Amino acid sequence: MKDCAVADSLVGNQRQDGSGGLVTLMENWKLETNAVQAGWSATEGAPRVAPITQSTTYRYDSSQAVADLFDLKAAGHMYSRISNPTTDVFEKKMAVLEGGTAAVATSSGQTASMISVANVCTAGEHFIAASSLYGGTVALFTNTFKKMGIEVTLVDPEASLDQLRSEVRANTRCLFAETIANPGMDVLDFAKFSTLAEEIGVPFIVDNTFATPWLCRPLEHGAHVVIHSSTKYIDGHATSVGGVIVDGGNFDWTGGRFPEFTEPDKSYHGLVYSEAFGATAYAVKARVQWIRDTGAYLSPMNAWLANLGLETLHLRMDRHCENAQKLAEFLDGHKRVAWVNYPGLPTHRHHQRAKKYLRGCSGVLTFGVSGGRREGEKVMNALKLAAIVVHVADVRTSVLHPASMTHRQLSEEEQRAAGVTPDLVRVSVGIENIDDIIDDFSQALG
Ligand code: PLP
Repeated sequence: MKDCAVADSLVGNQRQDGSGGLVTLMENWKLETNAVQAGWSATEGAPRVAPITQSTTYRYDSSQAVADLFDLKAAGHMYSRISNPTTDVFEKKMAVLEGGTAAVATSSGQTASMISVANVCTAGEHFIAASSLYGGTVALFTNTFKKMGIEVTLVDPEASLDQLRSEVRANTRCLFAETIANPGMDVLDFAKFSTLAEEIGVPFIVDNTFATPWLCRPLEHGAHVVIHSSTKYIDGHATSVGGVIVDGGNFDWTGGRFPEFTEPDKSYHGLVYSEAFGATAYAVKARVQWIRDTGAYLSPMNAWLANLGLETLHLRMDRHCENAQKLAEFLDGHKRVAWVNYPGLPTHRHHQRAKKYLRGCSGVLTFGVSGGRREGEKVMNALKLAAIVVHVADVRTSVLHPASMTHRQLSEEEQRAAGVTPDLVRVSVGIENIDDIIDDFSQALG
């Protein structure tokens, strides 16, 4: 396997990077320690905190050295559209946290979704996705991919394995689902989807945005690729848009269905990804084809902020879960509330599944106010601490009405398939004092 920084080195490697620090990846540390320490460890006199390398380019002694970078023969950064030392620290930490072999940071979660599928699915091919996805992902898959000649079948994630099998085609190239669906709050049946992926020999891609690696590690439940909108809990403070794709390194690309991995790539003088990069072939290909050609890379500043967020991920997530559980229980017992949807409630349809796969149920819940949409809007408008914002998963409590906001571009049928009813109010429970949060909802409902 080639050792190539532009192309991603394996977890466990150590190498001197361009900004003076030694990139250290310790697989044997616990997740909390890796959330703080992985990806960067300062050498003598180097900054303790990974610096922001705000440089588009890197100096080399000879044109041959640069030519070797272009040919993916040597390790090193050459241009910040493809890799950057600060973004590299974030990528390496994410690979460790998810238990993958390599990661590629993207300019947004949308780009992560787009590249994760396009890296294995070309024009004329097909993939299967759960219908309960974030609205923007549904729009990307059903509209924009269609223009690119890639067809999606949206399936009810609760359909039986046999029903899912009946949607498989000869040209199906991957499965895609969210660990905790936004905003339907379905918990993914990993066993069913991974069984199907295994049977038909395609990668299973999981959007782990709502769970984060602290609450769930999809690669341990049969996924092959994990993606995130780092804009959400990873950053955690609503400062920067970003995304990341983690290669599980656990899919065999040589089965015959993925010639782009096993046949020579003309744009790299006949390089064969599966042979040259083995367990990081997927990440390398995503970077050197998709990131290089679309320029959809995460900026060093945003990578630095996402990395800073990761340092407290475990602490924040536990508080988000605790607060959401208490707010869900409060709303569940309130006479003006018609229904509450939070997997942490024992009455939730996926409560047992949540116990099986999740350490906690995340900080997002949904509810409906008696009287429907109009009454729900009144409650939202009356909130004082919780703000109406188009965002989710940061430290501040916020609310949103998906039918008129995030899922607005979907048809009513698609909205229902995504678990969005007209009366649904989504709450992203922050890490403020829970008494203040409950008081706010209490006065708004009153
Ligand atoms: N995936 C999920 C589950 C999301 O909730 C979102 C955005 O809300 C995205 C992907 C897209 O991420 P971004 O807004 O960073 O592009």
